[in-house]
Parts: sequence; C-alpha cells; structure tokens
Amino acid sequence: MTEESPALYVVPTPLGNLSDMTPRAVDVLRRVAWVACEDTRHSAPLLRHFGVSARLLAAHEHNEEVAARQIVARLNEGESVALVCDAGTPAVSDPGARLVARVREAGFPVVPLPGPCAAVTALSASGLTEPHFLFYGFLPAKARQRETALRELAGAPFASYALVFYEAPHRIVETVGSLLSVFGPQRTLVFARELTKLFETVHVCPLGEAPGWLEADAKHQRGEFVLIVSGALSSLSSLSSADDGEGERVLKLLLDEGLPVKQAAKLAHAITGAAKKAMYDRALQLRE
Ligand code: SAM
Repeated sequence: MTEESPALYVVPTPLGNLSDMTPRAVDVLRRVAWVACEDTRHSAPLLRHFGVSARLLAAHEHNEEVAARQIVARLNEGESVALVCDAGTPAVSDPGARLVARVREAGFPVVPLPGPCAAVTALSASGLTEPHFLFYGFLPAKARQRETALRELAGAPFASYALVFYEAPHRIVETVGSLLSVFGPQRTLVFARELTKLFETVHVCPLGEAPGWLEADAKHQRGEFVLIVSGALSSLSSLSSADDGEGERVLKLLLDEGLPVKQAAKLAHAITGAAKKAMYDRALQLRE
C-alpha cells in the first residue's frame, strides 16, 4: 500500500468461523502498516493466524477520539490503517463510527470492505418475509427503559419491519420476557445463536412459546444472540390467511394501530383479499 494513497480500511472479521475471513480482508490487513483493534489481545491471535505483521493500535469505545488522532497522524505520514473490531463489522454495535468521521473530516478516504455481520447473517436465515428490517442493536439493560424502547417499535410506523436486536446470554431470558410483554404472543421470534460456531442454532417460534424454549434446555440460553421479531403485519397476515372473512377484523386492528384510513384499507385488502373499496368505506365509517 506504499504506492497507493493512504486510507482507512474498515475490515470485518469472522463471527466465529475463521473461514469467513474474505481474501480481500486478508490482503488489506497484510498490506497496511497499522491495524486499529478494539482489543489488541483479542485480535493479535487472529492477525497472526493470517500472517499479518502490521503494528497494532488500540481503538475502543473509551479512547476513540485519541485513536482517531493517532490514525490521522499515521495517514499524514503516508501510512494506511485498517480498523477491525472483536468480531463482525466495525461500527455496527461496536466502536468505529466516530473514528471514521474524524478520518473523513481530515480528508482521507475511508474504504469499507463487506464481510461478516451477525444481524445480516441472522436475517438471511430467518425466513421472515417483511419488506423492511430495523436494526436496533442492544436494548437498554434496565427493564423499564427496555420496555419503553420496545413500545416505540410496536406502533404503526414499524408495522412492516422485522426488528433486529443483539443480546448477550446473561440477559436473554429478561429480554425475551420484555419482547413478549410488549409485542404479545403472536408475533414470530427468531433466535439466532452462536452463528457460524459449533453450536449454531436458528430457532423460529411464536413469541408466546419463546420463554418455554429457553427453559427447555440450559444450553438454549448460552452464547451470543441475535433476536428478530416479525412485523405486526406479518402476524396479522398469518392469522387472516387462515380465515378469508377477516377483512374487517384486520382493518380494525390497523386503524387501532393509528394507520390512516387509506393505508389501512389498502393493507387490509392486501392481507386478507377483502374488496378494497369495501374496506375503504368501512374504514371511513369506523373512523367516524
Ligand atoms: N459488530 C458486530 C457485528 O457486525 O455483528 C456486533 C458486535 S456486538 C458488540 C456483539 C453482539 O453481536 C453479540 O452480543 C450478539 O448479539 C451479536 N453476535 C456477535 N457474534 C454472534 C454470533 N456468532 N452469533 C449470534 N450473535 C452474535
């Protein structure tokens, strides 16, 4: 990288399976002069494994501004730097965003490499068909704040979004309890744990059955988790597909969620197959 202009490379690393390191990631790490790591002790073995001899500097959530200045100084010296985190993609529920902003402000290119990310890996195996997803990351640790945050996601604006959360094993039971109390038993919950590792599990169940699944086997509570909750519309859709006469019931639910008349009628038609005009007229009556 000596002849190329200096840049900051944002380099994802495996979530657990070393074979998920991309050839481009290895190539970049071997060519840069410096690797900025969330935890140098954690990343050193990985870098050694791939024959990376770059010098390491620490860039974690408590020193991001200082690390940014060090990185800009290296770039000013004409040396390229790669940024990695402990696992997955930097700046996704991990440090990196502020540092990237500082490097860009200093006028240097930031080059992102695609690669492992727990949220996207879990989504790809979820089987959920929502047209959108919302990546939330970690919920607040305290139950009250967590449930307040979840209630904001339960409303109409996010009805067609799958909701993606990160969770650690010591809070999984509490967090699933909060999901159940806010979203109710009918939505689908996807547990994606230990992705790419020996005990990888992707378990899909109605939210009402999720606490039972966690309790059924102590192993179910271990490891790193991605949790994905289906959108409100998809649970309505699975309910209504069992009964074609449900247009009005679905329409009422959508109006109760605060959707405007036109949108509620359109969605009730799309979900249940009930006549669009009838849904619209009925929605007007219900709103009145
Ligand atoms: N930057 C990472 C990414 O790109 O996914 C996320 C880092 S965040 C500090 C760590 C969280 O990611 C874990 O608590 C867990 O929720 C999720 N995670 C990381 N590795 C995972 C894995 N192998 N299986 C399931 N979830 C994982």
